[in-house]
Amino acid sequence: MQATCAKIIETDINPFVEEWEAKECFPAHQVFKKFGDAGMLGIDKSPEYGGLGLDFKYMAAVMEELGTIKCGGVPMAILVQMAMTCQALSRYGSDELKKQFLVPAIAGDYVVCLGVSEPGHGSDVGGIKTIAKKSGDDLIINGQKMWITNSLQADWMCLLANTSDASQYKNKSLICVPMDAKGITKQKIHKIGNHSSDTGLIFFEDVRVPAKNIIGEQGAGFLYQMLQFQEERMAATLGLLRAIDGVLSETIDYTRERKAFGKSILDNQYVYFRLGELATENECLRALTYQTVDMFVDGQDATRLASMIKLKAGRLAREVGDTCLQFWGGNINATIILIIDCNLNTLPNAHIFYTLFCRYGLHPRSERF
Ligand SMILES: Cc1cc2nc3c(=O)[nH]c(=O)nc-3n(C[C@H](O)[C@H](O)[C@H](O)COP(=O)(O)OP(=O)(O)OC[C@H]3O[C@@H](n4cnc5c(N)ncnc54)[C@H](O)[C@@H]3O)c2cc1C
Repeated sequence: MQATCAKIIETDINPFVEEWEAKECFPAHQVFKKFGDAGMLGIDKSPEYGGLGLDFKYMAAVMEELGTIKCGGVPMAILVQMAMTCQALSRYGSDELKKQFLVPAIAGDYVVCLGVSEPGHGSDVGGIKTIAKKSGDDLIINGQKMWITNSLQADWMCLLANTSDASQYKNKSLICVPMDAKGITKQKIHKIGNHSSDTGLIFFEDVRVPAKNIIGEQGAGFLYQMLQFQEERMAATLGLLRAIDGVLSETIDYTRERKAFGKSILDNQYVYFRLGELATENECLRALTYQTVDMFVDGQDATRLASMIKLKAGRLAREVGDTCLQFWGGNINATIILIIDCNLNTLPNAHIFYTLFCRYGLHPRSERF
């Protein structure tokens, strides 16, 4: 599977990365179809809906290979489709919803996005304001979703919205929303990195969808999303391991060739000690990530480790990015794209991971949570 994935990356992605980065967009349907045809968008999904019916370890192998794509935007888009948008639908959705939304997502015919964050609520998921109000057999949706990956090209959104007046953890539902529904408008967000990724601000104004588009139980959306975040954390980390390897090895090659003061940059002890240290840290992260995946596949609660690896992956990616950027001096090339995108993967919610560690018993005062 990794070999198949590597072939797609080598033939259909890496040669075009610089062009897509410059355009600030990549052809998501064209790229996803390649992965869909190879079975990689439904590795852990049921064969009844076009999946391969394998466990998360096989997903992990492919996710790690995606880290060899020479930018951050394209693998992020694929990982969103593989592990962040369809997990709840696959687990809790009705047969009708799965046929309508999951089957084409697995086949690579549909691009999917996840609508959780809002302009006023990113880390604070419980506080989101988007409302989906019942009207007969329909829901009427009003609100906004912000920083939504894949959203400008997406065929449907897995939307988290408030569907009742209950408390903030019991009033939310996940809803399949076709992105061509009347009342949806989209605005592209320009970013400092991950340029090829399609990130949008999405407005919902009296958008009408059937109430049967709610995934699973009405009111269980917050819980489903928290469970879906588990795979998101592992996916994000797995996608960074090979990216970090790549940045380090290209930096080693470059600093070996580049001369200053009569010797290679790499010949300075500080430089090779630092690169060796960062490579060691990435191997430690890899080992902990595999342990997390094993626990998850074994059916154990992997929330604590999944939170730890995502925190460490973000921190390490930023450290590798900062360090290697200095070693490259003023030379800008494709590796630099990856370095900057590595930095961007440090999404700003470290406090959430610390909170989770406390809840899961790492902190001496854990009983207070
Ligand atoms: C490239 C990119 C792609 C994204 N894709 C998606 C997507 O597809 N779907 C989606 O729903 N969202 C997406 N997001 C949004 C992402 O999930 C949020 O950016 C993230 O959850 C943080 O929210 P925020 O940006 O509002 O930061 P804020 O919540 O405003 O946080 C800002 C800072 O304050 C800190 N902070 C907040 N609360 C506390 C606290 N209680 N204690 C201490 N510190 C605190 C945070 O750690 C952070 O450093 C994406 C973001 C980016 C950058």
